[in-house]
This record gives sequence, C-alpha cells and structure tokens, in this order.
Amino acid sequence: MHYEGTLIRPPSEAHSLILQVTTGCSYNKCSFCGAYKDTPFRFKERQLESDLDFAEQHCRRYNRVFLADGDVLILPFAQLSEIFRKIRSRLPWIRRISLYGSCRAVRSKSLLQMRELKELGLDRIYMGLESGHDRVLASVNKGETAASMRRAAACTSACAIFLSVTVLLGIAGSSLSEAHAIETGRVLSDMNPQQIAALTVMPLPGTNFHRAIQRNEITLPSPPELLRELKLMLEHTTADYVQFHANHASNYLHLAGRLQKDKARMLSRIDAALSGSFPLVAEERRSL
Ligand code: SF4
Repeated sequence: MHYEGTLIRPPSEAHSLILQVTTGCSYNKCSFCGAYKDTPFRFKERQLESDLDFAEQHCRRYNRVFLADGDVLILPFAQLSEIFRKIRSRLPWIRRISLYGSCRAVRSKSLLQMRELKELGLDRIYMGLESGHDRVLASVNKGETAASMRRAAACTSACAIFLSVTVLLGIAGSSLSEAHAIETGRVLSDMNPQQIAALTVMPLPGTNFHRAIQRNEITLPSPPELLRELKLMLEHTTADYVQFHANHASNYLHLAGRLQKDKARMLSRIDAALSGSFPLVAEERRSL
C-alpha cells in the first residue's frame, strides 16, 4: 500500500484496512490541529489503483476499510461514488467503509447523494464537534456553529449512517470551561450520535492554539477543572443508546460506557477521581 506522511485513524478502526485516498485536510485551519499542517490536500488518484490492486491480492482478511486522510468526504460526489464503486467491485468482501467527515463535507452533499453513498457502503462517519459553544468554535477557527453541527448530524441520521462525534476537553480554556461543557452536552444531545469520544486538548507547538497559550491568551484548565468539565458535559448529555468513550491517551481519567445506562457509574468515577480516591493518568503518560 502507498502511504504518505503520518496516518491518523480513529482507535475503533484499528482492525480496518487503511486506504489513503487523499492526503491532508481541505480545511486545515482549526487553531488546535497540527495533524496535517504541512500536508497539502490532494486526491491520490493514481496510487488508488495500485492500492486496490494490492488489496485485491493481499488484504482479504479485512472486512472493513477506513478511508484516510482527514477529509475524504469533501471530494466531489462523482469522484467519491466512483471510489466506493471500485471498492465494492474490487474488494467485495469489504462490509463497512468509514471515513473522517467534517460538517462542511456533509453539507457539500445533498441528502440524496448521502443516501447513495450509504447504499454504496458508507457506514460510519467520524466528525469533530470539539465544542457546542459558538464562541469556542469561533475562537478555535472551526468554521462551524452549533447549528451547522446539528444539521450535519440530522443528515447522517436521515441516511442511517453511524455517526461518531469527538469533543475536546480543555479547548475553551479555564474561562469558558463551564459554558463549553454545558453547551457541548446540549449539542451532543441534539445530534444524538451513535458514539461520542471525549479527548483532552494537548497544545501542539507550531499551532495557533499553542501560541495563544504562550501569550497567556488562553489558560488551560487544571486536571480537576477538566474533570468537572467532563462531569458537567455528561450531566447535560441526554442522548441515549450512545457509546461514550473518554479513554483516549490524552485523558487524565479513562471512562467508557453506554449512555444513559452507565451515566451514574461514570459520574461517580469522576467524583472518586475528584476526591482523590481514584488515580489520574500521570502527565508524562498522556499522549495524542
Ligand atoms: S481538526 Fe479536522 S477539520 Fe480541523 S484542521 Fe484538523 S483535520 Fe481539518
């Protein structure tokens, strides 16, 4: 397989075949994100053919495929449907196609086009909400609002596409931590995705977010503040039958469960960590 740069994939795609259809992210402007800073967005059209040849011969044990990099769904519909058709005909044993899909990528397709992609195998979209608070979204240059995130989720839901949403603890800094937690919980409730992943922001040198911290424009919440943020977010999330994961390597406290069924258990775990009776992940063990 032909891969360029550092491949990033969601933890739940650890057992998927990774097909790098594009490089980079077509937006590449979120202030906290350093994932594709020096990687131009490009459709790897020529390499796709040879990757499919390779997968046809050597990758029959995979029944899922994840399309990398950051923003494959933004490709024009005609190109995307052609890629999906090729996967279907050349790798007929593949049962599930997943990708990162930004809100603007969903918006760039009509409902009919999204339904057609679903029929062609698009099973799961991983979307970064980061925050449900409009001021926070604007401050990190996400280029979206809570309302546009809700609309994108309504579209995936209408097409019965599994939606996994990522939120970022700490992204609002200390001053907006509480409002970020409450609004994010509310927007998650409205989006009602099938999966929620809470990560903790880790400022990457070279990003505007990191520079803002160095200039003291943002103060990162302390670990107890982050725990209270997580607690408040969970308390304000009424979405049901949702897998909730806060077990990413960036988190100080690892939680996993199903909402709403396991909410009380997860909240009491946070309380235990806040009171010191449950240990936090050591700073040096955290990573992205
Ligand atoms: S967070 Fe997502 S949308 Fe924003 S720049 Fe990074 S990859 Fe692109």
